[in-house]
Amino acid sequence: MPDSARTILIVDDREQNRYIASRILRDAGYLVDEGCNGREALEKVLREPALVILDVRLPDILGYEVCRRIKDNPKTTNIPVLLVSAAFTSSESRVQALDVGAEAYLLQPLEPTVLIATVRALLRLRQAESESRLAARQWQGTFDALAEGIALLDSEWRVLRCNRGMTKLLGKTYGEIERREIRTLLREELKVPLTATELPYYSGDVKRERQWFSIRMEAVKDGDRAAGAIVIITDITERRLAEEALRATEKAAAMGRLANSIAHEINNPLEAVTNLLYLLKSGTHDRETTELIEMASVELDRVSRITKQTLAFHRESSHAIEVSLPELIDGVVTLYSPQFNQKSIRIVRRYEGHPAVPGFPGELRQVFSNLLRNAMEAIPQGGQITVRVRQSGDWKDPSRGGARVTILDSGTGMSGETKRNIFEPFFTTKELKGSGLGLWLSMGIISRHKGSITVRSSTKTGCTGTCFSLFLPGKGTVAANAA
Ligand code: ADP
Ligand code: MG
Repeated sequence: MPDSARTILIVDDREQNRYIASRILRDAGYLVDEGCNGREALEKVLREPALVILDVRLPDILGYEVCRRIKDNPKTTNIPVLLVSAAFTSSESRVQALDVGAEAYLLQPLEPTVLIATVRALLRLRQAESESRLAARQWQGTFDALAEGIALLDSEWRVLRCNRGMTKLLGKTYGEIERREIRTLLREELKVPLTATELPYYSGDVKRERQWFSIRMEAVKDGDRAAGAIVIITDITERRLAEEALRATEKAAAMGRLANSIAHEINNPLEAVTNLLYLLKSGTHDRETTELIEMASVELDRVSRITKQTLAFHRESSHAIEVSLPELIDGVVTLYSPQFNQKSIRIVRRYEGHPAVPGFPGELRQVFSNLLRNAMEAIPQGGQITVRVRQSGDWKDPSRGGARVTILDSGTGMSGETKRNIFEPFFTTKELKGSGLGLWLSMGIISRHKGSITVRSSTKTGCTGTCFSLFLPGKGTVAANAA
């Protein structure tokens, strides 16, 4: 403990008074410092003594005023002040002493036992105060170290206190949060309309722009009565994203399994029909019948290719396989053709050669499904979507070979602002109809395939539309007979 913490500052203009007080305190084991006027008191108090004994009637500045200045200075405000007076003995002066912040008031002449008892009481009080301030600081420190936003509410559901996490989550200062009613706060900052009956037990998840928050409330009980509540707000955006990504992957996997079992079921009758056709072909028929049988075989061939491909896709989904992009895209287009027809959207496909890349067919199907769906959603009624697939080098690094897919639509196009945000998770201009995850997921898939996506878009009247261009690395082609 520094000496200052055990030192008592005695300020009196009469030397005799100082001497007596000094003597009493020294005898009781305290260190003593002395001052003889207000100016000196204000100077010496800066050394932070444990306590100040201050005479009311000083020659330069009145003791009350000295006390007020000590209390006004943040550095000295916690030092207890004991005012001592001989001349002003009315109860009014006692009141005045307390008014300026003095902790105690004694009359001259000082009775040694009373002085010592008072000094001890004041020092104990100071010690207790400093301990509780420390506890409060430790508590606030802990409170602030938590990443969650936490607020304590009073019994009328107003914020009593909140932590730094809360100020960060809401982008507000402590002053802008504290004392506000929680329902107003949540309604204005997070658009959560809470009814009075939901207090103090509300719990739910909300979305604000591109962030997700979970809000939990707990009552603070005083007996049976809720004396207040604790509100905890957590940013759960990361968790939501992980969940959504998992759900999408699971959906794709489930679709793959379904396609696989259908292909499996089709395979047996298919083989039977193929054999029957073969038998038919070996008989003698007129020309027309022979042609019809030939056409039927070609179509049947196509079907069996599709089922084989589907089975192959599914079997090897745990590692990359050679994926024929035209075939994969054809599958997706077939899936959406009822919707394209309904909106009178024409699909133009331009496949050059047989571009193929190593990849995960289930995931790539999801990408093209997202892109085609977005294109379709951007076209109000009657329009065109052109899909081009060709072998190509990477525009950024022409030494890398691969395939390029462009999907061009005659839809509404997008503003610069929209274009800047489309790959952000949860960004959507479709309000409740969109999840805002399609392009974010697609970007993730394409990155895993070491490819890239670029986009161009126009909103100029007469030539609105959007073009997504995708590069996927690979040797870029498969032999025609393997397709
Ligand atoms: P969602 O389709 O659920 O909104 P996406 O991530 O698929 O989410 O797309 C994000 C946003 O990008 C869409 O809301 C839309 O504003 C814009 N967008 C995507 N594709 C197109 C397109 N072909 N034409 C116009 N806008 C598009
Ligand atoms: Mg979409």
